[in-house]
Amino acid sequence: MAKRVFNFNPGPSTLPLSVLQEAQNELIDYRGCGMSVMEMSHRSKDFEAIVHSAENTFKELAGIGDDYRVLFLQGGASLQFDMIPMTFLQEGKSADYVVTGSFAEKAYKEAKKIGTVKAAANLAEENHRRIPQQDELELDPSAAYVHITTNNTIFGTQWHYTPQTNGVPLVADMSSDILSRPMDYNQYDLIYAGAQKNLGPSGVTVVVIRQELLKQVPETLPSMLRYDLFAKNDSLYNTPPAFGIYMIDLMLEWLKDAGGLEAMGRHNMEKAALIYHAIDNSNGFYSGHAAKDSRSQMNITFRLPSEELDKAFIQEAAAQNLTGLKGHRSVGGMRASVYNAMSREGCQKLADFMTEFQKKNG
Ligand SMILES: *Cc1c(COP(=O)(O)O)cnc(C)c1O
Repeated sequence: MAKRVFNFNPGPSTLPLSVLQEAQNELIDYRGCGMSVMEMSHRSKDFEAIVHSAENTFKELAGIGDDYRVLFLQGGASLQFDMIPMTFLQEGKSADYVVTGSFAEKAYKEAKKIGTVKAAANLAEENHRRIPQQDELELDPSAAYVHITTNNTIFGTQWHYTPQTNGVPLVADMSSDILSRPMDYNQYDLIYAGAQKNLGPSGVTVVVIRQELLKQVPETLPSMLRYDLFAKNDSLYNTPPAFGIYMIDLMLEWLKDAGGLEAMGRHNMEKAALIYHAIDNSNGFYSGHAAKDSRSQMNITFRLPSEELDKAFIQEAAAQNLTGLKGHRSVGGMRASVYNAMSREGCQKLADFMTEFQKKNG
């Protein structure tokens, strides 16, 4: 049996063992094709079936219909920071960005290079501890779109409501919480996510786009940046990241077998609660970064009383096969990333370790 650790890395991140094993089983001979997915033509019937299956399973899980397309692109979530304003931020228009963390700010700054943007809210002076409430958002009713980041991977905060935009298209970076909980995906007009957190390996970006919006894509844009061309070609406009799409398809099947978003949402809430409970019952030994009402169920950020203890925590945790816990340099402390594929067992083990560590060092 291979060694497997409890991997709390923020992304790329842990994948379900059963998914890895399935990929391993099919690696040399994919379902009787006599070759792996890595070796097959992306124009073959077998690969087309994988892309269609991934799109359809995604739609089924998210509860969206034929008014949406699901595209598998490249360039990471970061390319979407550019593609979105290049497509939808026409001359004379402006777009609203809710700046809730590092990636939200990157998205805002990229868009600023391309057109006029406004920060509808920016709680940087509160060190992004919380998500602004609806009445704190300064939304422009004539904006081209409103952009939010549903989960802030670095600060460990998450939106627990969908902002009302009064008909202005809502665009969301869901890189770190896509398909992790039940929500009304139909309220969004464009959703994007780098796959490497909740959906599979790096190298694929999932874009969910309302078909209506495809009509707005300017023909003058470079072809590789045109959502409409990728939609028309079922994501096969050029050679796609085929193996990554295949892995996403396996992940989506795994999610379906696990009971879909209702079950996964419950599972994720219980998992995160184990760790938050260890923080809240530590008499301040562990201090959480996020305000309670804005806590993320995906990335749990906390610090210890000193940097020395932070270091000792990471070392001793690693010795118990709990890895990837170091926080991002901009926040410091710890970050436990507990995406869909992290088991309850892993969260329990981390919570137990936290209690033990505090007993010894508190
Ligand atoms: C990781 C992450 C990104 C960056 O994704 P890339 O695929 O590396 O470009 C963007 N936004 C959020 C919310 C993320 O968590």
